[in-house]
Amino acid sequence: MKKREILTKNEVIEGFREHFKVAPGFLVRTPGRVNLMGDHTDYNGGFVLPMTIDKAVWMGVRQRGDGVVRIYSVDYEGECRFDVHGELKKDQNTWFEYIKGCAWALLQKNFPLSGFDAVLMGDVPQGSGLSSSAALEVTSLLVFAELGGFELSATDIARLGQEVENQWLGLGSKLESKFGVTDQLICAAGQADKALLIDCNDLEYRPLDLPEGTVAAVLDTAAHHSVASAVYNERQEQCQAACKILGVSSLRNATQEMLDAGKKNMPDAVFRRVRHILSENLRTRAAAAALREKTPDVFGKLMDESHFSLQYDFEVSCFELDTITSIARGHSACLGARMTGKGLGGSAVALLYTEADDFTDYVSKHYRQQTGRFPNITLCRATEGGRVEKLQGKI
Ligand code: ADP
Ligand code: MG
Repeated sequence: MKKREILTKNEVIEGFREHFKVAPGFLVRTPGRVNLMGDHTDYNGGFVLPMTIDKAVWMGVRQRGDGVVRIYSVDYEGECRFDVHGELKKDQNTWFEYIKGCAWALLQKNFPLSGFDAVLMGDVPQGSGLSSSAALEVTSLLVFAELGGFELSATDIARLGQEVENQWLGLGSKLESKFGVTDQLICAAGQADKALLIDCNDLEYRPLDLPEGTVAAVLDTAAHHSVASAVYNERQEQCQAACKILGVSSLRNATQEMLDAGKKNMPDAVFRRVRHILSENLRTRAAAAALREKTPDVFGKLMDESHFSLQYDFEVSCFELDTITSIARGHSACLGARMTGKGLGGSAVALLYTEADDFTDYVSKHYRQQTGRFPNITLCRATEGGRVEKLQGKI
């Protein structure tokens, strides 16, 4: 098995020293995440079952005596600064706006902020659906909380991160602005070797042990279809249209009986969209039960079924996602595989009962042969959510 390189605490400390010529006072580490079950359920007030991964966004931090925030990004080789006591202005959306947006969201709620010097590094692949942006937001919020001497719960962090994305960065749709908070929640509240069942309706969450020894393989198809965002918008509209027809405020409140009764009043496509949401919520809860009951085979089978529902009922899969999940299922270590995230490109996830030596090569080879594309495969174990670690000496 190839050794997996993970960014270490010492590299972050060294990175800080190199840039600022002194030692950092504390570190903050927040992992990325992958969703094991429950897709397109979030903006319908349903259930999702993500886990943290072992790749993370880090900051090494030292408090300043003024309100200046000065951050050096190792990945972007650039430094940015702003003053939390001055007027915050939004510039173009770059890495830096995530951090400034966090300051803005906290200031709106009158949290006391102070300035700091920081070095920012990460090994969460960016833009691959592993939520590097949520990990960056959670990290930034934890830095401000540590320096300001206030506490934020994981749910507070999730809601603040959502405000940053929706209001400061202007990302996400109206539906998502109500429900799209689960990425920040899992990044903040995740636990080692556990997944989190999240109820998107009220953000209640429950940690559940992953089967011992299992590894999640994130299978980035290296495919992005330009129709993805149009299709995604259309799916949200179809879900809203279904709510009107069924007389519910959210598909969370719809039942199979309602759907059966309403079938004649809706186009077949809308019917199938709702069927996916209802069945995906059931599958996600069943997958959580499989974790509690320690039946990994059942969990894997539910993952496969979820993929087929996303493929045929919600129609957000694509040739590459179908191909890579089918190849993964053909490997003996694979318990189940499904697309994850919005679909039409992006990543799939497979659960392996052990870190099989040849899984990565096996999937890469067959996927290349069948699609001509080079996939990016990341094996992940769940690690602790966003945390501050104080270092020796004064901040
Ligand atoms: P995803 O969240 O799926 O990884 P996004 O496009 O939502 O993709 O977020 C990626 C953005 O988050 C990057 O373009 C960058 O602005 C910011 N980001 C993530 N990780 C880092 C990092 N290590 N250093 C600086 N910026 C980062
Ligand atoms: Mg993101």
